[in-house]
Amino acid sequence: MGGLFGVVSKNSCVMDLYFGTDYHSHLGTSRGGMAVWNGKSFVKSIHNIQNIQFRAKFEDDLSGMEGNMGIGCISDTEPQPLTVFSHLGHYAITTVGRINNIQDLVNKSLAKQNTHFLEMSRGVINPTEVVSNLIDEADSFKEGILNAQKAIDGSCTMLILTSEGIYAARDRFGKTPLVVGEKEGSYCVSFESCAFPNLGYQAKYELGPGEIILLTPDGIQKISPPGDKMKICAFLWVYYGYPSSSYEGMNVEVMRYRNGAALARNDDVKVDLVAGVPDSGTAHAIGYSNEARVPFGRPFIKYTPTWSRSFMPQDQSIRNLVARMKLTPITDLVGGKRLLFCDDSIVRGTQMRETAELLYNCNAKEVHVRPACPPLVHGCRYLNFSRSNSDMDLVARRAILDLEGKEPDSLDEYCDPNTEKYDCMVEWIRKRLNFTSLKYQSLTDMLDAIGLPHDKVCTYCWNGKE
Ligand code: SF4
Repeated sequence: MGGLFGVVSKNSCVMDLYFGTDYHSHLGTSRGGMAVWNGKSFVKSIHNIQNIQFRAKFEDDLSGMEGNMGIGCISDTEPQPLTVFSHLGHYAITTVGRINNIQDLVNKSLAKQNTHFLEMSRGVINPTEVVSNLIDEADSFKEGILNAQKAIDGSCTMLILTSEGIYAARDRFGKTPLVVGEKEGSYCVSFESCAFPNLGYQAKYELGPGEIILLTPDGIQKISPPGDKMKICAFLWVYYGYPSSSYEGMNVEVMRYRNGAALARNDDVKVDLVAGVPDSGTAHAIGYSNEARVPFGRPFIKYTPTWSRSFMPQDQSIRNLVARMKLTPITDLVGGKRLLFCDDSIVRGTQMRETAELLYNCNAKEVHVRPACPPLVHGCRYLNFSRSNSDMDLVARRAILDLEGKEPDSLDEYCDPNTEKYDCMVEWIRKRLNFTSLKYQSLTDMLDAIGLPHDKVCTYCWNGKE
């Protein structure tokens, strides 16, 4: 994943850019970057943020940055923003998304013209460079962006900083959001609207799917209209979006309360305490607790003073260890109790199994688990959503493989909660993860909790429908 933020201002943009980009830190843990236009050239800074927070790493760079227009990003993969000299001029570019056909695009470009792509490491080409190459194939930024949107299989939302202003273009099917904020003398454009209030911005305009605008200190120019098909990522609300952000007018925290309440309405289990797996499970649990009229509690507290969000080792077993060490149980709230946990989702299941084990070791009587979305059956093919590397990492897929003895031709029955196969898969997962009971949220209730027309939301993870 990743996030991006841009500012155009009649004054210095640097502090707004710094804090605005920082408000995207939950979306990526690998690289951070900022590029500022000073009227003649770009001042750019990119850092590895794997073991340090964005603000701490960029603080020393601020004194060397000046200018009234800038873009910044948090990236889970490639270093960005890139600065480019091309026939379109000198520009900086940052992107969020995933390009499934990157090798095809590179091969086509190499076949068309004598050109080159820089290698990042181990043969990997920077996807943002490929996007800039597609833009440079055309005679204007507008045509170039449209060319890139058409050519990319996957998704791509981008900001392009030029001497005129910032071109902001949302993914063709609106998988990720882009919102413009306004305050006296400045405009910003952001993935996360949670960046606005503390920086003094008011949400002004949300780009539609595929829409392109040019943002200047004087206002918003519409460059290309939105398309009519949208498939915004449902996981923004369920898991990775920030609680104080809204997308398409729907707030994340409010969605989670509604979602938890719907889980409770379909449940009749008797428990003593409802809790959430921090952080994103918490709001679903509050919704559940309020609806079920069962006390909400925090039998786990995250130890935040030394475990920063950005510490995310690549090795999965060390990630699991870190996740376990971060959560400290409050044994007084657990002993002899029937506990119900809401989690945003179950991916591999390792963490939830270890959490349940820890609770039983603290003498929990029962551990009931209620994921806030249906079983994940397909890996994401639209965003670099780094929670699983292969579909077979998903616990639901491991269950299916074990139950069938081979990969079945169709997964449809496992995606339908009204089938026996679905029940067998859920029971397999429950036993394997050692929960007293396990009941997943239904797709319909999850989509109703988001509140958008169902056909405007991407649900590929759960039903494989494009
Ligand atoms: S496949 Fe899942 S994570 Fe990926 S965009 Fe669709 S809903 Fe979001």
